[in-house]
Amino acid sequence: MQRKLIIGNWKMNGTLAKNEALLKKLTDGVTGMSGMDCAVCVPFPYLAQTQALLRGTSIKYGAQNVHQAEKGAYTGEVSVHMLRDFGCNYVIVGHSERRTLSGESSGLVAEKYASVQKAGLTPILCVGETLEQREANMTETVVGEQLAEVIKVRGVQSFRTAVIAYEPVWAIGTGRTASPEQAQEVHAFIRKKIAGFDEDFGHALCILYGGSVNASNAAELFAMPDINGGLIGGASLVAEDFLAICRAGTS
Ligand code: PEP
Repeated sequence: MQRKLIIGNWKMNGTLAKNEALLKKLTDGVTGMSGMDCAVCVPFPYLAQTQALLRGTSIKYGAQNVHQAEKGAYTGEVSVHMLRDFGCNYVIVGHSERRTLSGESSGLVAEKYASVQKAGLTPILCVGETLEQREANMTETVVGEQLAEVIKVRGVQSFRTAVIAYEPVWAIGTGRTASPEQAQEVHAFIRKKIAGFDEDFGHALCILYGGSVNASNAAELFAMPDINGGLIGGASLVAEDFLAICRAGTS
């Protein structure tokens, strides 16, 4: 069975003091947990601190966004090479907050995904439907189209070195989690869709669930056959909660 992967998305939260306390508790807390991998995606200004505090530990880290170009006249942007300089393993691309608040299209997300992979880092590709789309029975169409853009730009084999996070928009930061069955249904769809292109590695795909995962609901979500772990927002800011979720991912 695949090891569970639990990734925290701090979003735009943290201070030097709070991060230090949180990371210290996390590094202490994950010691001795087995059968699970864990990472945190932090705001850009805290990458150096995170790199220093996680050096020599089993916790990996990454960023929450990147610019698609390698370098150039893009004031205020950050390239994947800069992220690599700080030892990042992961970069979230296509989070629904960026798709909605920053108007990122699936085409742009695919370009970001490509630039992350070309630099040897692992993209965490977020996909998911809004409540309106779910109610209109469009979940599979929407998620299918989001995946198709990446396949068009990067090819289906690219998922061998990527993580997919299914994050229904209606479940993010709302306290309204998808039921394990609802999440499983979409995860199975994603796996089948990718396996349809290449049967061999469909089963090895890493598909995380994200959307109001907490210490009480993590275990039942992680028990579903096509859920390989979680992308955790709010609960990743509270050490005890995040550690409880990590524990739920141990085998
Ligand atoms: C997220 O931001 O990726 C997320 C899943 O948030 P939350 O866990 O707070 O719903």
